[in-house]
Amino acid sequence: MPSKDIDPYDASEALFECVGCGTRLRGASHPGTCPECESAVRNIAVSRE
Ligand SMILES: [Zn+2]
Repeated sequence: MPSKDIDPYDASEALFECVGCGTRLRGASHPGTCPECESAVRNIAVSRE
């Protein structure tokens, strides 16, 4: 059963959150910096840490 490996997120897009203002972004690649405040953006879609 491979179903346990499927996340609630769309696997084709990652979810990122700005560490500065909390803005959330979706995209296939890391945006680098927040478009709102230019702070660092982290990937929050990865849940297996
Ligand atoms: Zn920001």
